[in-house]
Amino acid sequence: MKKIILCIISICLIVNNPCVVEGKTNINHDKYSETMKQDILCLMMAYPENITAVINETGGNVYIVMSSGKKILYDDKMKKNPEQKFQNTDLQDMMEEIYPLETTRKLMEKDKNPGRNRVYEILDEVYGRGRNAIEHNLKNTNLVYRKLQFNGNNKASASLQETFKEITAMVGKSGNIYSSVFPLNGTYNYRLISGTNKFSPHAYGIAIDLNRDRRDYWKWASREEGQKRLDVYPKEVVDIFQKNNFVWGGKWGHFDTLHFEYRPEIIMKAKYFGNANTNRRNWYEGVPTNDQQVKNCVDKINKVLE
Ligand SMILES: [Zn+2]
Repeated sequence: MKKIILCIISICLIVNNPCVVEGKTNINHDKYSETMKQDILCLMMAYPENITAVINETGGNVYIVMSSGKKILYDDKMKKNPEQKFQNTDLQDMMEEIYPLETTRKLMEKDKNPGRNRVYEILDEVYGRGRNAIEHNLKNTNLVYRKLQFNGNNKASASLQETFKEITAMVGKSGNIYSSVFPLNGTYNYRLISGTNKFSPHAYGIAIDLNRDRRDYWKWASREEGQKRLDVYPKEVVDIFQKNNFVWGGKWGHFDTLHFEYRPEIIMKAKYFGNANTNRRNWYEGVPTNDQQVKNCVDKINKVLE
């Protein structure tokens, strides 16, 4: 009888013993930690003048520290549906969905919107908080056929200018390119995203709307109409914008096909960590560590998040 009771106790202990599931927990934890480091590295590479440090506080709360001293939390650890992630975005939510750099011909599913979640604390720090500060940072940007206001900070204006230089060089090669881009529908506009209380990226001077088509916005058009517009959208225009660190609203389920937005962190994550490489020798394999600035970021992260 004693033996049987001991046996039952042993079985109970094994079943309840956290060691039994430790292997699985570790795998998930490693994946989480690897992704966190990659996300933070992409942010540091994308905003090199604005992010000065990473800190790991007791209790496992990781923050990036901005040059103003402001700390921004990586993960609020709240369970959110896609709409809640859009409404209440932390850094992890912003970086989570991988933006597809390849040509996508099929409209994204409604809840897939890579690059549409924004952490406003970063935008405030980098591009200006409030109308006066933002307008102070705007630069008259030469878009070949005309000049428009775009934010001069963090190379946003310079990247848009380069984009238009490259697009103009392509214009003669296909009529479709010119008519997809021109006439432009505007850059800076201090306004909210319609139907929300969130500032539009146009309010920071980091987004541009190209030539408008009535099928370009998820609120104006059905998904079928949106798909038809994607079918004929010139791939060259999208590729040039992406190469210069802009994401395209045509790759969102909440499609916004005329809209391009300067989001270097999203493009960097796609570029360096977009493929499902499960055989990385280390978490940062793929980034150009021969660049001393990048190497310094990797070292900072390794020091704080080991
Ligand atoms: Zn727009």
